[in-house]
Amino acid sequence: MITRTAPSWHTEDWQILLSGSIRCPETLWKRLNLPLDTLPAALKAHHDFPLRVPEPYLDKIEPGNPDDPLLKQVLPVAQETEPRPGFVADPLGERLANPSSGLLHKYQSRVLLILSGACAINCRYCFRRHFPYADNRLSSQEFADIQAYLEAHPEVNEVILSGGDPLVVSNARLATLLKIIENIPTISRLRIHTRLPVVIPQRIDTGLLEVLGNSRLNRVLVTHSNHPQELDEVFDQAMGALRQAGVHLLNQAVLLNGINDQADVQAALSERLFQAGVLPYYLHLLDPVAGAHHFDVSEKSAQKMMAELHRRLPGFLIPRLVREISGKSGKTLIDLHLS
Ligand SMILES: *Cc1c(COP(=O)(O)O)cnc(C)c1O
Ligand code: SF4
Repeated sequence: MITRTAPSWHTEDWQILLSGSIRCPETLWKRLNLPLDTLPAALKAHHDFPLRVPEPYLDKIEPGNPDDPLLKQVLPVAQETEPRPGFVADPLGERLANPSSGLLHKYQSRVLLILSGACAINCRYCFRRHFPYADNRLSSQEFADIQAYLEAHPEVNEVILSGGDPLVVSNARLATLLKIIENIPTISRLRIHTRLPVVIPQRIDTGLLEVLGNSRLNRVLVTHSNHPQELDEVFDQAMGALRQAGVHLLNQAVLLNGINDQADVQAALSERLFQAGVLPYYLHLLDPVAGAHHFDVSEKSAQKMMAELHRRLPGFLIPRLVREISGKSGKTLIDLHLS
């Protein structure tokens, strides 16, 4: 347990926290007392995919500990620049086939909107490392196109906001989009996939709670937390406020070697999420993206870990282990061979 002094930032304004993220490796090394001999390789990896860590996340990392599970998710390291067969720039191809229009319709009843290409944090394991696209927000014309598409496809009853991170967008812009969606009677559900409440929980501000609280839609927010140490009291308060606003809360995680691939950590994550009112939804096997091979966990050890989890936790605290396979419409559930 580390005792903490006052946080190193002085604002609760999420937009200031978002723009004030650490992006300079030298600064990170200094702030966290990291060994200087790892800096040159980090600078090389940072050149391919920039470092980005918001202050509230940095605050949860233990200085001087190179094995900190949060640090490992954001730290550029030498292994990223080593090629590895099978790990490619765009493992899912189709995932980014049509990002400019902002709309992906792969599953019959739900569409996914890429609301913003930007993120609050750069996770080293992410496929996005090869597409650090600028913050190309959807235009009004694109909003109109989305409306027309949804009106022409009454089989769609759920709109999923994704990214990047859809919550980097302002509350006003979200409100505009929600109005459009609410006016389409065939849409009953809104889902938001976001890592922001985990890395800058201050994002769940009164403006956002108003926008979400006043919607006729059934609302689901899917957070992305990989480790219980990412979650603190500010997160708990944010989740409590969302629940009070009538939002259902789920979590998805990525299975990461040396970070959360032990049943102990996954069990603690599920318990910690539930304490905040969040249920585990998906646990993703890593997409084989170039530069992330050192995070990979084999399907076999994942299955073993999941079997252990089934022995330890009630069913509602167990995430579904899934993998995305290029060209397949939908996530592939990994068989756990439980007897
Ligand atoms: C993951 C995903 C969804 C949502 O899938 P669920 O199984 O409903 O969680 C929808 N569209 C696309 C393109 C996806 O990748
Ligand atoms: S927040 Fe999500 S989309 Fe953004 S870098 Fe991390 S894993 Fe990738």
